[in-house]
Amino acid sequence: MVVVKPGMRVVRGPDWNSKKQDNGEGFLGTIIYVPKKGSSDNKVTVIWDSGRELRYRAGHDGKCDLRVFDAAPAGIIHKNIVCDSCGDDPIKGMRWKCCNCKDYNLCTPCYMQNKHDLSHGFVRMDMDQSVAYPVPPRSKATKMATAKGVFPNAEVMRGPHWKYKNEDGGEGEVGKVIKLVTWNNNSYRGGVQVKWKSMSDIKTFRLGGEGCVDVIYTRVTEDASGGNYYPEHLPRVDVVSPGAVPLKPGDKVTVNLSLQHLKTLQDNEMYGGWDEEMKQVIGKLGRIIKKDQDGDLRVKIEGNSWIFSPVCCQVVDDPKLADKIPQLTSSDEEDSDGSMDGSVGTGMNAVAESIAQLFVDMLRGTPGVDQGKENIVQAAANGELAVVKAVLKSYPDKVDQEVEGKSALQIACYYGHKDIVDFLLENKADVNKTDSEGDTPVHYATFGKENAILEILLKMGAKKDVKNKKGQAAIHIAVGTASVECTQVLVNHGCDVSIQVL
Ligand SMILES: [Zn+2]
Ligand SMILES: [Zn+2]
Repeated sequence: MVVVKPGMRVVRGPDWNSKKQDNGEGFLGTIIYVPKKGSSDNKVTVIWDSGRELRYRAGHDGKCDLRVFDAAPAGIIHKNIVCDSCGDDPIKGMRWKCCNCKDYNLCTPCYMQNKHDLSHGFVRMDMDQSVAYPVPPRSKATKMATAKGVFPNAEVMRGPHWKYKNEDGGEGEVGKVIKLVTWNNNSYRGGVQVKWKSMSDIKTFRLGGEGCVDVIYTRVTEDASGGNYYPEHLPRVDVVSPGAVPLKPGDKVTVNLSLQHLKTLQDNEMYGGWDEEMKQVIGKLGRIIKKDQDGDLRVKIEGNSWIFSPVCCQVVDDPKLADKIPQLTSSDEEDSDGSMDGSVGTGMNAVAESIAQLFVDMLRGTPGVDQGKENIVQAAANGELAVVKAVLKSYPDKVDQEVEGKSALQIACYYGHKDIVDFLLENKADVNKTDSEGDTPVHYATFGKENAILEILLKMGAKKDVKNKKGQAAIHIAVGTASVECTQVLVNHGCDVSIQVL
């Protein structure tokens, strides 16, 4: 669980809908104000590296506009834990622990710089001794972004909290960032060394240190990058439920890790224990029957119940999937005696941060999905155009094949894999194909907030006002997910905005 603090460096997050206030995906900002605990204010104040100061939702109405890019400037360290790649001792900011190797840890910069085997799954620990959140192997990541802003080589000028008179040579003078350093012995990567053009010494200023921002960039240069990062592996900035959402009986979950990842986590003596039979439930949907005193969960999956560590269970937060899980029967309810108290805070909600990853893992982990080694739906989910092409070359009639009730076009639309969408449409994929919920590719693109894909579908003549079984047309979803771009596309294509649900 990440406790949000001033000084943390952030990027846009899962519910971002503020266009280019941040200057584009990957641009960094600094949290300068966090409301007091218990306050009804659920927004944090950020100064973007461009100097713009704005407020963002941090759990307000369940929405998180930001993710933590680096917690180190807020002084977070992991005592006695050393980065096994760069040797940083102790690890500052978030800690990444390999699930395949014994005692192997990375710091955030090393994790993001692709140190260690990319096929190994990790758990992320946000603070010393905190709950571990599993993240999928980096080789399976569906998304990468490039960090930009005040990084080495950036051209900067004095910013909002400047208090150093004319140490920069005077108002409006520019300088060049040399490197990120520690500010005041406790704000790691919370200071920035700058060489001002008209001054001879190199001096250090705050960029997160003391929750302040002394310098901002003047323009974005190509060589001033903070490297790539995995947005979906970062914690969301949430002051309402900081990652620790206790699971309770009745909640819908899926055990959704690779076999080895699951085995390693269950095998760890902290957790629920491993049983070879467990592999058959990977990727399936279940419901929690009971929570033990030590936090282990009894999960009912297809009529049997299993004990899982909470870190292995991911909340199914996609209503489309959740509806498919049967309710508990009265005998299940009796089984959940009074031993659960809801006090064991575990972080699996953070695990389910992206519906996207859920789909990928389900498709990867569900036994019986792989019909032969190549599967067009999985390839579409993974963005593997070459595999999609290969499958269709051998089996041109498989273009609308369903796996788990979904077609390749639907999945590719959801993920925004434009090249695959184009290719599938060229190969006569059914542009109006419905799944068992009545959702069409237009619905999927809208669920994924993929406005560019939506545009392609509508140009291809996809039906725009068709309703799914819940009575929702794409316009309802676009509005409901606060996707301004998708709403605009639909309106531009003459969608009926007054259309009623059912
Ligand atoms: Zn490192
Ligand atoms: Zn490893």
